[in-house]
Parts: sequence; structure tokens; C-alpha cells
Amino acid sequence: MTVAAKTKRNIFLVWLLLVPAGLWFTYQTYPPHISGKWLDIAAFLILTSVVAFMPMVINNTPIFLIQWVSLATFLSFGIFVEMIFAQAAVIVLLLRLRLQKEQLFRLPLNLIMFFLVSLVSGVVYYALGGQTGPTIINNLHSLALAAVYAVVNYFLNQVIISFYLYFIYKSKESYFGKDFIVETVTTFMTLPLGFVLYMFYNFQGLLALFIVAVPFASLSIIFKLYYSSQKINEYLQKAAEIGHQMAERLEVDGVIDLFMQKLSEMLPVDYAYIFDVISDDELQLVRRIQCGTGITTESAKIKKNQGISGFVWDKKKGYLYHSKKDWKPFTKGYLPSDAESVLAVPIVRNKKVIGVLMLASKQKRAYERSQLMIVDILCSYFAVAIDNAKHYEITKTQSERCALTKLYNYRYFEKLLTEEFDKLFQFQRKVLSLIILDIDHFKEVNDTYGHQSGNEILCELAARLSNLVGSRGTVARYGGEEFVVLLPEADKKEAYHLAEMIRQSIANWPFTLQQSLELTQQQVKITASIGVATAPEDAEDPLALVRHADRALYVGAKRAGRNRVAEYSSC
Ligand code: GH3
Ligand code: MG
Ligand code: MG
Repeated sequence: MTVAAKTKRNIFLVWLLLVPAGLWFTYQTYPPHISGKWLDIAAFLILTSVVAFMPMVINNTPIFLIQWVSLATFLSFGIFVEMIFAQAAVIVLLLRLRLQKEQLFRLPLNLIMFFLVSLVSGVVYYALGGQTGPTIINNLHSLALAAVYAVVNYFLNQVIISFYLYFIYKSKESYFGKDFIVETVTTFMTLPLGFVLYMFYNFQGLLALFIVAVPFASLSIIFKLYYSSQKINEYLQKAAEIGHQMAERLEVDGVIDLFMQKLSEMLPVDYAYIFDVISDDELQLVRRIQCGTGITTESAKIKKNQGISGFVWDKKKGYLYHSKKDWKPFTKGYLPSDAESVLAVPIVRNKKVIGVLMLASKQKRAYERSQLMIVDILCSYFAVAIDNAKHYEITKTQSERCALTKLYNYRYFEKLLTEEFDKLFQFQRKVLSLIILDIDHFKEVNDTYGHQSGNEILCELAARLSNLVGSRGTVARYGGEEFVVLLPEADKKEAYHLAEMIRQSIANWPFTLQQSLELTQQQVKITASIGVATAPEDAEDPLALVRHADRALYVGAKRAGRNRVAEYSSC
């Protein structure tokens, strides 16, 4: 969530206009009676700071126990002291969170919020007849007023936060979701603590603060642990989901894209890199994402033990850096100069590192230890998914392509032909042409130069055909020395023309044999006969189109003397 510079400036301005004057106004309207209580106030301030220093933070908002210290402060010393304490608590809290320079606007933003919350809930309390220093033991009315104060205080806080999220952070998510309910329930379950603190202080004086501080601090820690374990739970669930989704992707690129996309949704990621282990001591960059856009760099390589990724590979362990000064000494210069936090994890498959993932954020302390663990788990899902996708791609190629020429095979051609005919039937295509080619006297070529040389010619012919046809159609090996070219959207004339070009390029340019029986390079001249047929004019189903092109080949070209192109004619 980024906030425009202008908005930030306005926030400072609003603070400057509102808060100092507001404090002065409050002081004048509700002057505090605190003479002789300085020591107590100092003790309350210390307690406030201690509790604020152990924040439970949800959506960047401090919650729970600090509110009950401030409730007790308010009841004991009135609105002005509470207001000052709340401001102090915000400052302590944000110091603790180590705000970056560009996040500094959050200080006045929160100061404004706490000022408004203190002011409104205090004014409501007094307006309803509430007093500073009420007796709440055996006095239901005072207790109820204090509770009203707490409720107004809490809800106003929430309303302002949601307002901030919507108007300043432009967040589209509803703030009043599950987190909000949990937070509200927990807040009010702990409300009696505020009364306990207040009553105990009235009863026991200063000593009460020290005694109550212990459960306050422990509860703070417990809540914090509870929330972090909840967060981890959520992450784990998400990780499992991403694992399933990756397993469903069949192509390697698809798996990588999904992985990167999900990672950047889950964590603050400004830069992401995936390195592949390409040899015993070298890594290669295969994917790089910068601020949301994917860039793949071709040849960037890194040696084992060099840079962060090389180090992670060598140690087979994930590493987390909170700021630039932690990794700067041994970087290889991949990371842009504005990167701060870095999270790097090895991608391990069968106990072997097969790659390294590196994430970086422009913010300091963007990643936590628990996130390192989650990314580690995700990387192992990723490794399995990549492995499966690689196998799938190999199997697919093997089943669709001819091993010798790498052209599509007969099976693939048949499937494609049926699909193209379907398009013809659905009027997505007007015409579809087929060229069938058979090398003339190929047996003799085999007999003269050997079967191996025959294979070489087939390969070179396959390459020539692919080049000539290009994106106009699909070349496939139909059988032994027979090839087909399927040309969607090519009428008979165009198909014939292309067939003639093919014939000439075979007849006019000899083929080179590298491994002939003579052991020297040799040039061989061959020719081919070609048949052409077009649907729908020559055929209305796939089989007929093949049969008719074949017929043109044998009757019109081979029988007529070979090395020629013939088109199908029904007569
Ligand atoms: P034509 O077509 O002109 O009638 O004569 P041809 O000699 O080409 O006859 P035919 O089509 O009947 O024979 C095809 C020959 O192609 C038979 C076989 O030896 C050869 N052949 C088929 N597949 C391969 C292959 O994969 N490699 C090699 N080297 N030869 C093959
Ligand atoms: Mg043949
Ligand atoms: Mg032949």
C-alpha cells in the first residue's frame, strides 16, 4: 500500500493544525488536578510505555491492553493526562516498529487518531455526568459510565482506522472482517483488567501498578504469541493451497509464473529472482521480477559461494536479512540499490539443491523468521511441481514428435487435421489445404549411401520444409520418407505455389552428407513428388483429404515421371 506524497504532506499539515491546538483546548476546558500526584503519574507513564513497547499489531494497529492502561489513567487523572499518555504511547510504539523515512507520515496519522479518540470519548464521558476519580466499587452507575467510555473509545478507534484504510491507504478490503470480530471480542474480554488496575490503584496506591504490570505484560506476550501462531496457521493453509495449484500446472513456465505470482501476493516482494543450478558450481538466473513485471535475463551466471544465492546454495539453508548493511558486503550486484530486506531459500529436490529463490523488499525488516519457514515449504512444493512439469513436457514432446527429425509425428498430425476440419465445419475457416510429399527413389539413396545417410537427408529435408512453411502451416512426418504440410486458410493456388517452391528447393539444392560411407562430405541430389488437395472443394472429411492428396501424389506426380507437383482433380 503506497500513499501519495501529497497525502503525506496533508497529514502532517492536519496534525500541525489540529493536535497542538486541540491539546491546549483540552487543557483549558478540562484542567487536570494533579498536584502531588507526580510520582503516580510517572509510574502510570512507565506502565503505558512498557505495554506500548510490547505491541500486538494487527493491520499496523496497536490493540488491547494499552487501552485498559489508558482507561485507568483516564479515570484516575482525567482527559488531559490520558490524552498526553496516548500520544506518548503512539510515539513509543512507532519507535519500536522502526519506521522508515517514507513511512514517517504514520506518526502524525496515528497521533491525530489517538487525539480524536481521547477527546471524543472523554467529552462523551463528562457529558453523561462522569467524573474524574469516580468510585466504581458498589457503584453501578459509575461503572456503566466507565464502560461507555471504553466502548466509545474502542469503536471510534476502529472507525477511524477503517476510514484511514479506505481513504488514505485506498484498501478495497473490508476492515470489519474476521480480524475485527476477534479483536473486538478479545478487547472486551480484557476490559475488566482496566477496572482492576484502576480499583487496585485506588486501594493500594503505587504498589498496585507494579503488581498489575506483571499480568499486563504477560498477557501482552501471550496475545502476541497467539496472533503470530494464527498468522503462521494462515500462511500454512495458503502454502498448501498454492502447492495444490502448482501441482495442477503442466508446463514449467506455468509453474514458475504461478509460484512468483502467489509469493508476491503473500509477502511484500519488490524484487524476485529464481536461479537454476546448471552445473556443479554454477547458478543461472532463469526468472527475474521487478516491482511486478517479469523479466527473464538470458545469460547471468553465478558461481557457487558467490553472492547471496551462491552462499545459500553452498549452505543448503535459507537466510534472512533485515537491511542492506547485512548483505551488502557479499552481494554480486544483482540486487538494486534500493533493496533492503532479503529472503533467500534453496530449492531442494531429493536432498539436492536444484535452484535458489531470492526475494527482496525495499522496506527494512519486511520479512519474519516464520515467513522464511513458509517460503521454504513452498519451495519444496515448487521443486516437485517443476519436476513433474519437466517430465510432462518431455513425455508430451516424445508422444507428439518424431525422434529423428523432431517434426510432429503422424499421431499429432491426425489430431490436428481433425481439429482443423472441425473449424471448417464451424465456419471458423474457409479453406484447408494439404500437401503430401514423397522422396523419389529413396530406396536407391539408402542402397548407395547407407541407411544412416538416408536419415541425414530426412533431417535436412525436415529443416528445409520447416523453414519454407514457417508460420503458414504445420509440417509433420507422415511415414518413412513421406511428409505432410497442413495449411489452414490456404486455397489450392497458394498451396500449389508453396508445393512448387518446396519441390524446387529440393531438386535444385543438393543435400550434404556428413557421415557417408566414403568418410568425406558428399553432396547428394534428390527429388520429390508432391500431391496437393484442398477442403472443402476436394474433400469433406479428413480421411478423404489425405486420400485425395495421396492420389494426386501417386497418379499425378509419380506416374507422370516424378519430381513434380500435382493437384487433385476429381475427374
Ligand atoms: P518412389 O517413392 O519414388 O516410388 O521410390 P522409393 O524408393 O522412395 O519407394 P518407397 O517409397 O516404396 O520406399 C521408401 C523407402 O524409404 C524404403 C525405405 O528404405 C526408406 N525409408 C523409409 N523410412 C526410412 C528412414 O527412416 N530412414 C531411412 N534412411 N530410410 C527410410
Ligand atoms: Mg514412400
Ligand atoms: Mg519414395
